[in-house]
Amino acid sequence: MKCAILSIGNEVVEGFVLNSNATYFASKLNELGIKVNKHLTIIDTETEIIAAIDYLNKDHNLIIVSGGLGPTGDDITKESIAKALGLTLKIDEHELQKLKDFFKMRNYNYSSVNDKQALYSELDTILINQNGTANGYYFTKDQVVYCVLPGPPIENRTMFDSFVKTLSTEEVFEKDLYLINIGESNAEATMKHLYQKYPQVYIGCYMQDFGINYRLKSTNKQQIEACFLDLKTIFKDNYLCASKDPLADFVNFLIANNITISFAESCTAGLAASFIASIPGSSHILKESIITYSNEAKQKYLKVPLDLLNNYGAVSQECAQAMAQGLFEKTNSDLCIAITGIAGPDGGSTTKPVGLVHFVLHYKNKNYYFVQNFIGQRNLIRTRAAKSIIFETYRLLQQTI
Ligand code: ATP
Ligand code: MG
Repeated sequence: MKCAILSIGNEVVEGFVLNSNATYFASKLNELGIKVNKHLTIIDTETEIIAAIDYLNKDHNLIIVSGGLGPTGDDITKESIAKALGLTLKIDEHELQKLKDFFKMRNYNYSSVNDKQALYSELDTILINQNGTANGYYFTKDQVVYCVLPGPPIENRTMFDSFVKTLSTEEVFEKDLYLINIGESNAEATMKHLYQKYPQVYIGCYMQDFGINYRLKSTNKQQIEACFLDLKTIFKDNYLCASKDPLADFVNFLIANNITISFAESCTAGLAASFIASIPGSSHILKESIITYSNEAKQKYLKVPLDLLNNYGAVSQECAQAMAQGLFEKTNSDLCIAITGIAGPDGGSTTKPVGLVHFVLHYKNKNYYFVQNFIGQRNLIRTRAAKSIIFETYRLLQQTI
């Protein structure tokens, strides 16, 4: 099935309303394995609507339309679609009565401008609006399925959900794979032969703020498993987990293995701990986070020696080691993570550029050192730094446990 989404409304075209309908419809269809090929957003004139229908039904067999089903003069979607397709609209007496009852029940005066909301062609199957008066409907004409819905999201979501259930689709299987420390272009160059090898698998590559999420989709379960294993082998040095949410995966891993974690954070200032705390259940494993932004704080709370700070600076492997050691002595957590770096935009130098971050993980009486040179704006560097050490820790634990 090849699908197009047609959004109708001046307010959407002019930028006053975010087109959340199109996003919702597309993501739901995508989940069902129905390929959305095009989005088109137009103003609500008859000429534009007819032109859009004529254009889209040439090479799409499913068209989802939203907007312009209400009672007012600018709501002309139903009439314009009927005109484009040569359909005759007639009042559905049963629906007209329901409209009148709806007004009566609320003590509103019924006006005949509402009559047009009871207009349907003989092809239509009505989708009842539970939250308003403009029903949606769907029909098939010349092998093209049309689903027409009112604009307000609160009204059209349930109608759309019940419509998609009528589309007979095979079960679609999904599998995620998360990689770190590799760029998108490198990753694509390394795995591009898999697109030919697994033609039945849709392989999506989504860059994250730290890492890459590959999502595989297919109606063929064997193919998806085989493709996943190939990717895992190809990217054995970058593979993190089979999930699109490695943070949640990591926290659940710590909970399952009863491993506690604490942080000493300089440039990330609590961000790493906050990422852990964003996952439900983290209170079982997150013990403490000490924000030691200044040199004084590093000495005061983590016992980082002054001469170490003078000799090597706060952004150094030595300082990160001392921070992790101090944190361990204070908290006795299983995992003690220290982060110190330069988030910018100022404070960089040739030897210590903006984006340089040192990390030390203290685990089972051993210190593991990592260093990264992140690029991006200040807060992106901070986010990447926090996620980087969390994900590196996850990888290390998976290899050692
Ligand atoms: P109504 O009976 O409310 O007039 P309608 O089907 O005629 O319904 P529109 O008049 O086109 O719908 O839009 C009504 C409201 O619905 C808009 O003001 C906007 O808030 C919301 N809306 C319309 N289109 C979209 C869209 N594509 N995405 C999100 N919201 C939308
Ligand atoms: Mg309207």
